[in-house]
Order: sequence, then structure tokens, then C-alpha cells
Amino acid sequence: MARFSPSVLFVASELQPLIKTGGLGDVAAALPPALRALGADVRVLLPAYSKVLAQVRNINVLGPIAGAGAMPESKLLAVDTDQVGAPLYLLDCPALYQRESAPYLDSSGHDYSDNHLRFGTLSWAAASIGQGLAPFAWQADIVHCNDWQTGLAPAYLRLYGGAAKSLITIHNLAFQGIVPAYNLGLLALPSSSFSIDGVEFHNQLSFLKAGLVYADRITTVSPTYAAEIQEEPLGFGLQGLLKKRSAVLTGILNGVDTAEWDPARDPFIIQNYTAATLAKKALNKAQLQQEFGLPVAHRTPLLATVSRITDQKGLDVIVQVLPQLVELGGQYVLLGNGDPALEAQFISLTAQYPQWIACRIGYHEGLSHLIEAGADAFLMPSRFEPCGLNQMYSQRYGTPPIVHATGGLADSVVDCTAETLADNTASGFVFRPLNAIALLAAIERALLCYRDEQVWRRLQISGMGKDFSWNKSAAAYLDIYREMLK
Ligand code: ADP
Repeated sequence: MARFSPSVLFVASELQPLIKTGGLGDVAAALPPALRALGADVRVLLPAYSKVLAQVRNINVLGPIAGAGAMPESKLLAVDTDQVGAPLYLLDCPALYQRESAPYLDSSGHDYSDNHLRFGTLSWAAASIGQGLAPFAWQADIVHCNDWQTGLAPAYLRLYGGAAKSLITIHNLAFQGIVPAYNLGLLALPSSSFSIDGVEFHNQLSFLKAGLVYADRITTVSPTYAAEIQEEPLGFGLQGLLKKRSAVLTGILNGVDTAEWDPARDPFIIQNYTAATLAKKALNKAQLQQEFGLPVAHRTPLLATVSRITDQKGLDVIVQVLPQLVELGGQYVLLGNGDPALEAQFISLTAQYPQWIACRIGYHEGLSHLIEAGADAFLMPSRFEPCGLNQMYSQRYGTPPIVHATGGLADSVVDCTAETLADNTASGFVFRPLNAIALLAAIERALLCYRDEQVWRRLQISGMGKDFSWNKSAAAYLDIYREMLK
């Protein structure tokens, strides 16, 4: 059989390491090269933010893309960079993208007031390429959109016609790009599209809803999240539409960067180790205890979290159980930043239990690796989690995660029971519902296992052996492309 090699324009508003605010940036960096390795001709389109322009070379102006409504003409650039594993096009429009701060917020942390035009223009350009109107000879079979910032591209392709099919991937449904209805004409959307079966959402215009209505296929970043967003409360008002479109909605778990997150080669940790040399992990634990000013105690269980400090991540529930964890003889370290009120609660707990609880407020790449390597177990009780990365890193580092049964957490962690231990699939502790009692019960189960070194070792080794690479996810996306082009 001939190799399936569709031409795909992958359009995103961020791309690691050029510009990143969250998981979308990681996916945009990893998925296109993984798909290319399977034979797909995937090329990436990103706005030409100042910060991105400063990091690329050999900028070649391909030509203009016409404007529409209040969206100005832009230029398509082809650029070179060693930092991206796929051909990269930048959409150049200095008035929209060349700003001091990027991609979404100004330097005081507020959304840019013209974000609808900035990302309407990105969507318009993606659709133009899909329509064969771009200034080059390459025709995309599929325009692969990501989140609300690209949500209008499927609408433009459907409403104005175009050869390419469209797919939209939801990375977080909580962000929808909702703007007042008067923007309809400014965004070159026909008035007929302003209906319940179109872009209208409670009398406003929704970028994400547009994508979900008009795309040929919809994916999201885990199978459980795909089911959860068809119901309240995680559907955030779009559950009815997603249920109606469930036949074309698929959940595909993200992969992780297995080269960056590999305890055998990680340069951020003081002692590398593998499943065969797990005893060496103890050196990282001692280093971590020391780094956080806790007593260095080999057999004291050390639990940890690396996270944005927000309600989404369930850190308020961790606050509630920490006094009991201390009573059970466990240490806890936290690395993160976010909500100041929640940060203050952790800081006050560290003052109350300085021998047991420590936290570092801030963002530290290296320390996050040391925590994965040094902790005994990883706490991640997210209220909702489209995919989540840290629970996968934890398993690769022999640090079993304790997670709420939601989204990608439910799909990537196998709860430790007599049966799953026996068949070597157990890789952590999964609990529900999300409250202090259930979290504490899961922690108690984990501590009980931890005391039995043989059982704990088994749990660690089965987690370390799991395949969280992008190859599996990319193959699932390729299957969807294949179905779309049938
Ligand atoms: P989300 O994208 O919702 O924040 P994920 O688990 O998908 O959550 O990804 C978060 C990523 O950011 C992980 O790689 C995590 O290690 C990293 N991270 C979050 N907070 C910090 C921090 N304070 N220091 C270092 N890395 C962090």
C-alpha cells in the first residue's frame, strides 16, 4: 500500500521554544515533527511576533495575503530555524503582532483589546492557504487548527468554500474567544452565520464555537476529556454542541518529550538512574530535601507538586490535607506560582510545619526536574485536566502520581489495586470525587504501599516502562487525517 502523506497546515498561536504560555505550545512543537516522521507533509503557521522574528533566520517573503473586513493585509514569510522540527511559515503583520509582549497579554497582564482581529487574521490566513489563495504553490489537504485563536478558520473554509478540510483540536475549552456581535462584519463573517447553528453564542460571537460548528473533525487531548466536555460543567456551555457532534469528536492523549524528560539522561538532576538502578534515585531525594531545607531522611515519604497555583489544579484541596499528611509522617514540597491568596496559604503552612512542608514560589525549569526525580510520589488533584503532563513525567521518573480521576489524569495513570499490581499495570493512585476526604484516603493508600518496598518498587517500574512518546499520538492523528480524506 502506498504511504499516506497528506499535506497539512498546522496553525497555532504559540510554539515552544519560540513562544509558549502552556501545553498548546508543547503540542505545536512536538506533533508536527512526529507526523512528518510518519510521512505527512505537515507545515506550521504561526504569527510573526517580535519575539519569534528575533529567533529565526533566512526570512523569505513569499507574498501577500489579502485582508478582509477590518483585518488588514498580511504577508506570508518562510523562515529557517533549528528549533522547530517542521517547515515554519510566519504570518507577518507588524500592526498586529510586533509588540513588546506576546502572545495574548500586554505587559500589564491584560488581554490585548484587538485579540479578535489578531487571531481573526491568523484564522483568515490559514483559511486562505486552505483555499489555495496563498502566495506559493503548496496546497494543504487539511488545515489543522488549535484552540479558539484559530477557531474562525474552519468557518471561513466552510462559508467561503475551499479545497481543504479542517480539523480543530481543543487544548482547553475554558478559553473560548467570545466578543461582541458587532464584530461579525469586522471579522468578515456573513450575517447568516450569526445563528445558533453558527458562530452565535448567547448573543455574542464565539471563535471556539465557530471552529466546533464548522470543522470537519474535532479532537481533544484525552479520551476522558472528550467525554467530559459533552456534559456540564466541563462543557462550559458548549456541551450540547459537542454532544451533537460526538460522532466526529475524538480524544487523543498527548505525548511528552521523552528526550527532555528521561531520568537516565536528565542534566538537571544530580544522579541519573533507570528502572534497573532505582536505588540511585535516593540521591536526588536527599538533594531535594536539602534544597528545600527539610530534614534529609531517606525513609520519610516525600510528596511533591509542580503546578500553576490555581483552583483548576485543586491546590486548595491539597492545603486542606497537608496537616494530616504531616500527622501521617509525610513531607511535602511545592513549586509553583499563581493565585496570591492560595500562595499565601501554602506559605503559612510552611511557617507552621517548617520541618515538614516547604514551597518555592516561582517558575524554575531545573527544579521541576529535580522534584520529579527526588520526590517519592507526585500530588496532582486537578479539578479538570484536558491532558496534563506532570503525571506522565512522574511515571517516567519512578515517582507514582496521586491524581483525581479526570481528563488525561484518568487516561494515563492506572490505579494501584491487587489486580493491577498483579498484572504490572499499576502506576499510581487515582481517586474520586475531588474533596479532602478522598484525597487523604488516596494519600493513605500510597503511604501504605510505600512502606512495603517490594510493592513500591513494582509500582515504580511499571510506570517507568509505559510509552508516553508522541509516536502513538501521531499515529492516531494520522488515522483521523486518513478518515477525513477518504
Ligand atoms: P498546564 O498546561 O495546565 O499548566 P500541564 O501539566 O499540562 O499543565 O503542563 C504544565 C507544565 O508546566 C509542566 O511541564 C510543568 O512541569 C510546568 N510547570 C508548571 N509550573 C511550573 C513551575 N513553577 N516551575 C517549573 N515548571 C512548571
